[in-house]
Amino acid sequence: MSSVKDMTKPKIKMAVYWGAACGGCCVSVLDVHEKLFTVVEHADIVFWPIALDFKYKDVEAMPDKSIDLCLFNGAVRNSENEHMACTLRKKSKVLVAYGSCAHLGGIPGLANFKTKEGIFNRAYLESESTVNPDKVLPQTKTEVKEGTLTLPEFYTEVKPLNHVVEVDYYMPGCPPTTDRLVEVFTLIVTGATLPPKGSVVGASEKALCDECVRKKSENKKVKKFYRPWEINDDGETCFLEQGLVCCGPATRGGCGYRCIKGNAPCRGCYGPTKEALDPGAKMLSAIGTMIDSNDAKEIETIVDQVVDPAGTFYRVSAPSAILGRKMP
Ligand code: SF4
Ligand code: SF4
Ligand code: SF4
Repeated sequence: MSSVKDMTKPKIKMAVYWGAACGGCCVSVLDVHEKLFTVVEHADIVFWPIALDFKYKDVEAMPDKSIDLCLFNGAVRNSENEHMACTLRKKSKVLVAYGSCAHLGGIPGLANFKTKEGIFNRAYLESESTVNPDKVLPQTKTEVKEGTLTLPEFYTEVKPLNHVVEVDYYMPGCPPTTDRLVEVFTLIVTGATLPPKGSVVGASEKALCDECVRKKSENKKVKKFYRPWEINDDGETCFLEQGLVCCGPATRGGCGYRCIKGNAPCRGCYGPTKEALDPGAKMLSAIGTMIDSNDAKEIETIVDQVVDPAGTFYRVSAPSAILGRKMP
């Protein structure tokens, strides 16, 4: 992005918001470091709870479509997230589902493997650090002598942003890489032709394996799957070929294979490629082709070595997966 501002061009208005999020996506926006000055040269930030003191009522008072670009990170877990998703949709010309949680449901979406009651029981009654003799559970309304206290309603399931409002673009990653954010931001501020609405931006159309530099051989098969701590990774051979589950075959490239560079297998945060559709189905097929046996019993034993397949293959995508909440 040019650091020389074209003074004839008005600044765009930009918002960054977090729903059910860990804060990592907001930090990834801050991680543009000195480029943040370039961002503020081109954009007025009108709402960003992690960094600036704006109130919801400030956003609610803005004219509709007055925000040019809104990066919404985090999933929709409760009524507050949903209210802000609807408000920001109304106020924004371009709404981007920023990061895996907004894109696919993300890590919070793993809670869809449990019920709301199960989550409340564990968090407020059973956890080792909980002291709650009166078994008080969160209520949306509590009367106290000063008036009524309210809490957002905790929904029975976690939803990605597009289950609640129309989304213009999806930027994958947990979190998206800062370089790709700057690329997409540049596209928007320079008025370049944007891809069709509904597109995934800041990522590749191809699978991560296509960009990964680890050595792959033609027909390598394995007799055993390991947890990462069970073997010494040689640092250069494809993880799957060493018997370590890596979600590269089912995952979009574009992150610069950053986990692989750190000698950790991919956990699929860029989401499935267009062809993969369902990351779990694609990973089952990838695992199937790696198994070195034709014996049904032995195949079963080898498959059983893949620990927590649902939590691994759907690490960031359970709420958007074809299986959805039909999983036990
Ligand atoms: S996508 Fe990852 S970094 Fe971003 S909010 Fe979700 S869990 Fe955090
Ligand atoms: S499976 Fe993982 S390690 Fe192997 S090529 Fe694909 S991304 Fe690289
Ligand atoms: S290697 Fe996989 S898990 Fe790691 S950043 Fe890239 S897509 Fe995400």
